[in-house]
Amino acid sequence: MIRYRNGIGYDVHKLVKGRDLILGGVKIDSEYGLSGHSDADVLAHAISDALLGAASLGDIGTHFPDTDLKWKDADSLFLLSEIGRMLRENGYTIANVDSTVVIESPRLRPHIESMRIKLSESLGIPVESVSVKATTSELMGFAGRREGVIAMATCSIFSNAGEGAGAGDGVDAGERIEAMGSPRG
Ligand SMILES: [Zn+2]
Repeated sequence: MIRYRNGIGYDVHKLVKGRDLILGGVKIDSEYGLSGHSDADVLAHAISDALLGAASLGDIGTHFPDTDLKWKDADSLFLLSEIGRMLRENGYTIANVDSTVVIESPRLRPHIESMRIKLSESLGIPVESVSVKATTSELMGFAGRREGVIAMATCSIFSNAGEGAGAGDGVDAGERIEAMGSPRG
């Protein structure tokens, strides 16, 4: 029996001078970067929360508290890979991740492919299973005024518990996914 679950993640970080702008593990040339306890990778954080939410495993702050010096300037892709491991240990496989970054500037288009590759590698899933999109806030609100960056993510995961146990209809998770026309790697 395959059980699908969905998750949602949302994160915001402030733009400040003198910090690197790191999104999806990719350092992007910019006068302003994101402030935060870790490397402030707002996209990796939103995806982390979506995955933890789908598995009902809390949120990124539960596992990597910003009061812990251990996570100061932490590489958020490492945290994401740890979350991927947690999901696997709990019997889940990630079907797909979709995400949107709201940033006024710089344009992210030239970096989207690198972000998808870095994110998928850290999660150990095919690049086709990770989508990253970018939009602006049309100069409105805090994102439009370049005061901060917003990231949103959703994901779908499935439980492969019982797979190969001889129960059910004999269709394994991979075949079921293909039958549903989902991306495969
Ligand atoms: Zn964050």
